[in-house]
Amino acid sequence: MTLFILCIDGMDYDEVLRFGLGLEYNNKLTIPEELHRYGRPFTPNVWPSIFTGRVVIHPLYKQNQIWGPRAKVREFLTRRGITWRRQGFKIFRGEDRQRMDLEKATYTHWPRCVDKTVLDGYNNFTFDIPSVSNTFAMREPKASTEFWVWLSIFANYFNHFDFGIVALYAHKLDGYAHRMMDYSKLYHEVFDLAKRLSKRHKVMIISDHGTVDGEHTLFSYLGCTEPVHATNVLEVKRDIERIME
Ligand SMILES: [Zn+2]
Repeated sequence: MTLFILCIDGMDYDEVLRFGLGLEYNNKLTIPEELHRYGRPFTPNVWPSIFTGRVVIHPLYKQNQIWGPRAKVREFLTRRGITWRRQGFKIFRGEDRQRMDLEKATYTHWPRCVDKTVLDGYNNFTFDIPSVSNTFAMREPKASTEFWVWLSIFANYFNHFDFGIVALYAHKLDGYAHRMMDYSKLYHEVFDLAKRLSKRHKVMIISDHGTVDGEHTLFSYLGCTEPVHATNVLEVKRDIERIME
């Protein structure tokens, strides 16, 4: 039996419940403020922290002094319905943010920044987790297509092998949510896949934060077919170890 860990960037606990989805166990997790940027959970910091059980700040990430006040201004405007996305010097306002798809893509690479993770303790296959795998490159403005890759290939493929842990990451939902696109279908697809896998395997779904109304929320989602006790993202490692005993 394999533990499948589906790492879904931006999956929100409250949205999971709103769509009537979930696994046998569902926890809402807090996220240490040290992992924030602009006052919100920052993806390249949260994932390595989840899989090491300690606060990890990606070494390529540097906070500068204007980010604190900038976050406050941004929140003030967002609350008044003024939302935008910036790409270089271009600003896309409100609904216009969907137009970013038509613009030229840029890439940000978040390479592995940790020596050892909980995944390394087992015979594992790990795909594309920011700061944990070495492969993740965020493509802006379009979210990458990897979501469909593992839906159509990995899940079926790894069903037939004797891995301890298969951990697969997808960024697409976060990309949709940032651009205020309808992401309900993506939520359902993740749980359809989890349900299919759970017939033969243990399944965990974990996010680094939710993404709702175009912004990261302050909580992340943990769902599992096995009992889990974590209430903070740093405690997920211990749940994984217990499930694997
Ligand atoms: Zn994220």
